[in-house]
Amino acid sequence: MPASPYALPDGHVQIAFSGGRTSAYMLHQIIEANGPLPDRVQVTFQNTGREMPQTLDFVEEVSRRWAVRVVWLEYRPKAPFFEIVSHNSAARCGEPFEALIRKRKYLPNQQARFCTTELKIRTAKRYLRSLGWDHWTNCVGLRADEPRRLNKPAPRDRWTVWTPLADAGVSRHDVTAFWRRQPFDLRLPNVGGRCWLGNCDGCFLKSEANIAAFTREFPERAAWWERMEALASDLTSGSAAHWSKRYTRAEMREFMRRQGDWALMTEGALCQADGGECFA
Ligand code: SF4
Repeated sequence: MPASPYALPDGHVQIAFSGGRTSAYMLHQIIEANGPLPDRVQVTFQNTGREMPQTLDFVEEVSRRWAVRVVWLEYRPKAPFFEIVSHNSAARCGEPFEALIRKRKYLPNQQARFCTTELKIRTAKRYLRSLGWDHWTNCVGLRADEPRRLNKPAPRDRWTVWTPLADAGVSRHDVTAFWRRQPFDLRLPNVGGRCWLGNCDGCFLKSEANIAAFTREFPERAAWWERMEALASDLTSGSAAHWSKRYTRAEMREFMRRQGDWALMTEGALCQADGGECFA
């Protein structure tokens, strides 16, 4: 019988759990194929502070229901540059993200995604290095229907990337079908297999229509993104103080107040972003 695509490779393995349905499904399949995970496997969730509360609850529920230890990590601006937190103590108001912006003194954007690098990739790396790991396998939830993300060059770092979902030919429809059969789910809308409120709530990689809907539906959460643009404007100038080259979040708020639903139906009303997700 051929080996399961979910059979754990030898050595240290990091399973990157983003808090979304796809990586939770991947975690489930790995547990099914291997049984309880040994200590040489670490499941990590890097909290930026801008996750929706439903995402944090989902991570906790996955951990409890499937009896798997998930290490909650957050970026810190001072050595050792990470902290282990929990569902109870996790930041919920963007504190790790804001600390990074204050340190860098400008905002990340589509061209400079240092938020993913620092808040997620390096935060996990620092934790794993603190365990004495030198080299490891990084298991990420890339599906077979994401060729653009799969065909990226391999990182030249301490890990090799393992994508069991892609190896197993899993598509987002398989993930949706799996969650329909489960007694619990991520309590955020699943629109055609996509979760527009996953990852950071107002992420600059999300489409303009999603940012517009977010601004209208969650004004108090959208205010954080606007406040960060004001903060960055005090620290730097020009496009480095904005999440997008095309519009500011204050302009988006004002636009939504004036235009309402039109912006939600007109992709490109303010800009034409090439979407994508934070996949660290
Ligand atoms: S989800 Fe978006 S804003 Fe959050 S870390 Fe990833 S790229 Fe940055």
